[in-house]
Amino acid sequence: MSTDNCIFCKIVLGEIPCRKVYEDDELLAFHDIHPVAPVHFLVVTKEHIDSMAHLDTRHAGVMGRMMVMVHGLAAQQGSTDGFRIVCNTGGWAARMFFTCTCMCSEGPGRCRA
Ligand SMILES: [Zn+2]
Repeated sequence: MSTDNCIFCKIVLGEIPCRKVYEDDELLAFHDIHPVAPVHFLVVTKEHIDSMAHLDTRHAGVMGRMMVMVHGLAAQQGSTDGFRIVCNTGGWAARMFFTCTCMCSEGPGRCRA
């Protein structure tokens, strides 16, 4: 997977529109276009990383920050009764998500994991 055919890179670059939840220099969070729960958003690294299997120690900061900030974003979006975090990585999981993506959804909705 290269950045040229990565849907998340296109979203980060603004080539594909999204409804932003949060953005900083390293991360972008946006609502899923096909939500399966009242609160359902994705968090991606702005740096293209093929999968969790391609992470190395220099990614520790951004990946840690992703995990730390999800609960605050979920609360801002109205998730008050717990939430689920799904990380898809490589192989069959990569059919849906090719890069380092964290999906956050609230409630019993089914996640695509
Ligand atoms: Zn990408």
